[in-house]
Amino acid sequence: MDYYLAPVADVAAELATLPAGLDAATASQRLAAHGPNRLADAHQKTIWQLVLHQLADVMILVLLVAAGVSVLIGEAKSAYVILAIVVLNALIGFVQEYRADKAMEALQKMAASHAQVLRGGQAQQVPTADLVPGDVVLLEAGNVIPADVRFLETHALKVDESSLTGESGNVEKSVAALPVGEYPLGDRLNLGYKGTSITNGRATAYVVATGMKTELGKIATLIQTAEVVTPLQKRLGTLGKRLSVAALAVGALFFGVGCLRGEPWENLLLVAISLAIAALPEALPALVTVSLALGAGRLMKSHALMRKLPAVETLGSVTYICTDKTGTLTLNQMTVEALYEVPAVKMEGLADRNALLTALALNTDASHDTQNHWLGDSTEVALARYAASKDYARPALEAQFPRLAELPFDSERKCMTTLHQTPQGVLVLTKGAAGSLYKQLTARQQGSLADLTWRVDAQAAQGYRVLAYGAKMLPELPADLTPAAVETNLTFLGFASLIDPPREEARQAVAECKAAGIIPVMITGDHKLTAKAIAEKLGIISSKEELVLTGPELTALDEPAFAAVVEKVRVYARVDPAQKLRIIHALQARHQFVAMTGDGVNDAPALKNADIGIAMGINGTEVAKEAAAMILLDDNFATIVAAVRHGRRIYDNILKFIRYILAGSVGEITTLFFAPLLGLPITLLAIHILWINLITDGLPGLALAYEPSEKHSMQRPPVAPRQTIFADGLGWFILGVGLLVGLLTIGMQAWSIRQGLLHWQTMAFTVLCFSQLGLALAIRSRRESLFSLGLLSNKPMLGAVALTVALHLLIIYVPFGNRLFSTQRLTLAELGVTLALSSLVFWAVELQKLIVWRRGVAIAPQPTPATQPLPKSATLAPA
Ligand code: ADP
Ligand code: MG
Repeated sequence: MDYYLAPVADVAAELATLPAGLDAATASQRLAAHGPNRLADAHQKTIWQLVLHQLADVMILVLLVAAGVSVLIGEAKSAYVILAIVVLNALIGFVQEYRADKAMEALQKMAASHAQVLRGGQAQQVPTADLVPGDVVLLEAGNVIPADVRFLETHALKVDESSLTGESGNVEKSVAALPVGEYPLGDRLNLGYKGTSITNGRATAYVVATGMKTELGKIATLIQTAEVVTPLQKRLGTLGKRLSVAALAVGALFFGVGCLRGEPWENLLLVAISLAIAALPEALPALVTVSLALGAGRLMKSHALMRKLPAVETLGSVTYICTDKTGTLTLNQMTVEALYEVPAVKMEGLADRNALLTALALNTDASHDTQNHWLGDSTEVALARYAASKDYARPALEAQFPRLAELPFDSERKCMTTLHQTPQGVLVLTKGAAGSLYKQLTARQQGSLADLTWRVDAQAAQGYRVLAYGAKMLPELPADLTPAAVETNLTFLGFASLIDPPREEARQAVAECKAAGIIPVMITGDHKLTAKAIAEKLGIISSKEELVLTGPELTALDEPAFAAVVEKVRVYARVDPAQKLRIIHALQARHQFVAMTGDGVNDAPALKNADIGIAMGINGTEVAKEAAAMILLDDNFATIVAAVRHGRRIYDNILKFIRYILAGSVGEITTLFFAPLLGLPITLLAIHILWINLITDGLPGLALAYEPSEKHSMQRPPVAPRQTIFADGLGWFILGVGLLVGLLTIGMQAWSIRQGLLHWQTMAFTVLCFSQLGLALAIRSRRESLFSLGLLSNKPMLGAVALTVALHLLIIYVPFGNRLFSTQRLTLAELGVTLALSSLVFWAVELQKLIVWRRGVAIAPQPTPATQPLPKSATLAPA
């Protein structure tokens, strides 16, 4: 059936439903029959796919070749060990990826949207996935349409279908059946499509198609969304490719030199392959995904829900946080503190009622239920509640002066109007920003404008939100009900001053931001003076150089002029949502990394364009949430800052394990490559290298992901999002530490051979292994020594090191291990020597930290003052 051609009643009959909705039993039957209202996800991996994914890995293939070579040269024993390692490796990879998938799934469940439906005549919230054909959904501005629907009732409904049809602009929707004919999607005016958003009005509609049967689903089968690769993963991918080439070259060189020296080629080949494996950071990209997914899980516990994985990684790079004021920096608990009445204004038709209080009670969308709970926007509630406390209750007054029409509030006009029937005519009541009303006053009152402005500004300067009221009487309801026609020629009645206290935790968060080199910026529709007063209370403005800019002032600036000041502006007042986009672009042009909050439909473009778009979880619309990378579950500014702190920790830890694993690889390569050049026998067997790669690199490497925040992580400037992994001397660190590990191992080998010790190979193996464990412990912090961190502050690391040591001792001291790994039992003295030598790596890294830290203190560019531009190196991303 073509639902757009049929009248609503026929559609209902076809879908076997009623305007009151389905009953619960039918709904669950249909859910079973039609499946969930969800787009199939091509990336949802089955367990088998996960397993296969582990095996289809270059390293695994290389290992299998190595196993084959071992069998060929009659080293079956090595082949078993290699196979065991393949299995173990796949197992660890599988467990990690499975956990990451589960963490992501949990996040997606949290982020799942809900829809209002009528079931058995009762309105209720159900998860969007549970919608079935025939359901009756209630929709309003800010909703994303949850399925394909046929409207049965609409009120000023407008839908943005650009996500589906590509055509921008709003489509007005209606209920009537269309005359028979052919209509493209965009012209089926009585249908709404899954994934499009309602920008205005409200509607009731029948669900006609769900899941993959929707128009969106039909497209989704053609273009599956690409799997996300985070910036860091991309960089690691490139790095991996380069290293593979290098590894193969090193392996080939090793093999060639060995052959020339007349070593048996079979052994050489095995070691060459192992060498190549040692150099490949194969596991890194997967490890990054795992840390990001687990990090997102942690973030959710602190009320920040991540919708996009790459945002976890880049959170720590934020340099500007542009945030809404009301509700995020303040408590959104509005209270009327005072009223000012313009003396001697009387409205005829109200008998001897107070005109201002009547306006407070009538011009409102707030209401209260039977339990005396107030419902509605906090500003509206505060005003209506105040009027009610003065015996001007909305229901009683509205019974006498019924509302005939209204012009709803919008954040561009910054006012709203209601029209009421009175015995003397139609009463027009407008309330809104005082500035919006000034221009519309009667000629007679224009004279007292200076006085009014002065009074309003005095209130605003104390941090009050001022709402002004105007009124006029018309003989009848005007035909033209647009703001331009109605909101004119008003008589100023007076104004109300509302207080909305700042959040205490926001003040601390602002201070934390500034210490971390992040600049908090307030964006509000409120009066300039109100905004400034609150920004000062919160510490957002603390000096004269920090500017307040209003929307109109912003409009007057051209691009170069705005670019010149944008980094100094701390407060934007009287802006409308469209200007948020301009602010973002100007900051980004200055290479700033911008987080931006938003809640409304018209914030969506800003949320998409910000480097990190943040939607409000409580007060935000679905449209805003879908456009955002992160959702604030508690709408609290402090949560953004906490999320940045987590982001920095997660990124730090990823860098730590990259450094750890790469330094280890350099150590192994140095050992294998240089020993023969120094005239020593090949230090290790292939299985030793594999063991170190899997166990010694793997276990402590993972534990680094559990490292708590560095003490100073919020007292240093942000890291540029595209900064290379090797910046900041990290490349030298990896090289230096790797060389040290390698030289110690070769030194051990040379010394014990000179001493005539038969166990030289096991001793070198042990040094290589234990020195990396020392590195793991020392690398936990970039600045602090292990002694001030304490061993217990990262228990997984302690466990990983203990386990690695135990396993290593097992393969040295248990006869089975000796046979499998060709190791020898070390005497106590030998073990002591290896331990002492291995610990040098730990001491060296601790010493390096001490030196760098000392110097760091001496030149400490302590907390970057917020007014100063950040150092170029930290903010400029290489092209
Ligand atoms: P914010 O960015 O602080 O949320 P809004 O866009 O909500 O600001 O409000 C901007 C201005 O519009 C306010 O300063 C106030 O003057 C006016 N205003 C806010 N809410 C209403 C309302 N419900 N009715 C009329 N005017 C309002
Ligand atoms: Mg608001």
